[in-house]
Amino acid sequence: MRLLLVEDEKKVADFVARGLRAERLAVDVAYDGNAGWDLASKVDYDLIILDLMLPGMSGTEVLRRLRRHGRNAATLILTARDATADKVENFDAGADDYLTKPFAFAELLVRVKALLRRPPVSRSPVLRIADLELDRQTQQVRRGGKRIELTAKEYGLLEYLASHPGRVLSRTMIVEHVWDESFEGLTNIVDVYVRHLRTKVDDPFPVKLIQTVRGAGYCLTEAAQE
Ligand code: CA
Repeated sequence: MRLLLVEDEKKVADFVARGLRAERLAVDVAYDGNAGWDLASKVDYDLIILDLMLPGMSGTEVLRRLRRHGRNAATLILTARDATADKVENFDAGADDYLTKPFAFAELLVRVKALLRRPPVSRSPVLRIADLELDRQTQQVRRGGKRIELTAKEYGLLEYLASHPGRVLSRTMIVEHVWDESFEGLTNIVDVYVRHLRTKVDDPFPVKLIQTVRGAGYCLTEAAQE
């Protein structure tokens, strides 16, 4: 696993890098924001540990640029800034974890290990299947550039399907992921909602995206299933 540490306090940077290397992790260090961005934009890191207050580009700006460029490296913010507003801003910008200074190395290490265990995920807030677009941050849905109004459950169902494009999802899987424990109905609720969704997302358009896979479930894909 290859990590990038962006930290301008040399003592902290050296201490953290030494500790991580002792765990057999490969660690590159950048001592300012511009050098951090430069490395992060060129190397496909598994994890980036990012200070916020840096000379040159701020840590938040490095993070924003990374996500804008579709860079999916897990990111842990390591900073003295402990205000909720800072945490919210950086999680919104695409951070995966946030640890405030002063910190214990043992805690940094367990967080690093937990992040490295996660499978890579798509971090773009926008899911795209053909001309369908779902913005997971604003929960807005568009098709062919046209805004589509959905209810909360219709949106939940579409988001679940769109997060697994091309994959057949059974009614049971859909109910488990889209409805909560308070729901005690039958899985045919899925068919009802798929019908609602189709009238809004597919019926007005020539290409149908929501496919019924007989005996198996549903699938969101551009290619029609037999
Ligand atoms: Ca700093």
